[in-house]
Amino acid sequence: MFHKILIANRGEIAVRIIRTCKYMGIETVAVYSDVDKDSLHVQLADEAVCIGGAKSSDSYLNMENIITAAISKGAEAIHPGFGFLSENSAFADLCLECNINFIGPNASVIKKMGNKSKARELMIQADVPVVPGSNGSVKNLEEAKKIALEIGFPILIKASAGGGGKGMRVAFNLNEFVSSFKTAKMEAKNAFGDDTMYLEKYILNPKHIEIQVLADKYGKTIHLGERDCSIQRRNQKVIEEAPSNIQNDLRNKMTQAAIKACEIVKYENAGTVEFLVSGDDFYFIEMNTRIQVEHPVTEMITGFDIVREQIKIASGEKLNYNQNDIKYTGHSIECRLNAENPKLNFKPGPGKITHLHIPTGPGIRFDSFIYIDYSVLPFYDSMIGKLIVKADTRKEAIRKMRAVLEELVVEDIPTNQNFLYMIMHDKDYVEGNFDTFFVERKIDSLLEYDEYE
Ligand code: ADP
Repeated sequence: MFHKILIANRGEIAVRIIRTCKYMGIETVAVYSDVDKDSLHVQLADEAVCIGGAKSSDSYLNMENIITAAISKGAEAIHPGFGFLSENSAFADLCLECNINFIGPNASVIKKMGNKSKARELMIQADVPVVPGSNGSVKNLEEAKKIALEIGFPILIKASAGGGGKGMRVAFNLNEFVSSFKTAKMEAKNAFGDDTMYLEKYILNPKHIEIQVLADKYGKTIHLGERDCSIQRRNQKVIEEAPSNIQNDLRNKMTQAAIKACEIVKYENAGTVEFLVSGDDFYFIEMNTRIQVEHPVTEMITGFDIVREQIKIASGEKLNYNQNDIKYTGHSIECRLNAENPKLNFKPGPGKITHLHIPTGPGIRFDSFIYIDYSVLPFYDSMIGKLIVKADTRKEAIRKMRAVLEELVVEDIPTNQNFLYMIMHDKDYVEGNFDTFFVERKIDSLLEYDEYE
């Protein structure tokens, strides 16, 4: 087992990883940008190294500085968390070259699965159902138009290098398609430095359901069940839960497809295979080759610490359990708490936390990095914490989340707390009638709350 791990991240996931390292008796090295010196992850780690300025490209994406920090502190492994360098194959390669363990799959797997159109091609070869669309990437507008007409509208134009909902555009007809193709391409170029595009049929009212997998270095792959992440705003997840309410037959097919997807690329470490579900059909959309924001709901119903499993796998341990050993209990829901103002079109609202009250109790977890007097910074993601509950049934989990949202106090910055509260009270949400279009369809009623209630 490793003695010391460097965490190449910030915010709640850095804190989350440091905590597990502590439980495992592993020393930790935090890295931070100069504006992050007061961050919780810096205070919790055994050692900390400043790696550059506020801009991510100067610090959390600065591979050389991070590797130098790891070498100088004698860290044997780097945990990349999510975002930043977590799906960067060049970084995984650089770690290998410098004799440092990258806690994740190897660079060639990241390359295969990180490029979304390539991953699509691989899945087609493996007989895993994908959304109808182009086989791989499309060469140019002419070819794209031809394929679009073949598939039929509406069409979703996607960037191969895409992530976080960027570089994605819908087109309902050929006219729209031409202009959307150009815009999406430009957006992709700006966001990812790569404007390779591919096409998918735009599935109306699907559910987003994903499978958590774990694979060791010796070819053993198991899954920890699924998560429903259909509650999204602009293709970005807001609320996730486990289990989902799909039939067992469909669940079995999806978990088998996810395992197959992993086996074909010789996947190792933790990963997530994402699908869209429409009726009885399911379609692969992408694989995330890293820990995900919503991993806690799976932890809550399986009793696993997924970060601990990641570290054990990276250190060369075998998975010493089988698929049949995985047991699921109860229902878990996660709400992403963001520093943003829903009534101002979800505008980010950084600022100082002057008052904070965090509810606790059985089956309640708050993964966060905020504390009183901490200033939420404008430079990074606006997610300030994740509220997670577990109860015996979904109904009880919803009641518990309502109670948590009622009690939570975060002042004096705007948050989406009331917006989350409204979703927890929406009749369709409560009855399980929701899909990825839920928020868009209901946005007006979800914003009908009084700020000072
Ligand atoms: P990203 O990596 O940018 O998050 P994904 O491919 O994971 O992009 O898709 C994010 C979300 O966008 C999905 O959960 C879903 O809501 C929506 N989406 C993606 N592909 C399609 C599709 N073909 N049809 C309908 N919605 C889609």
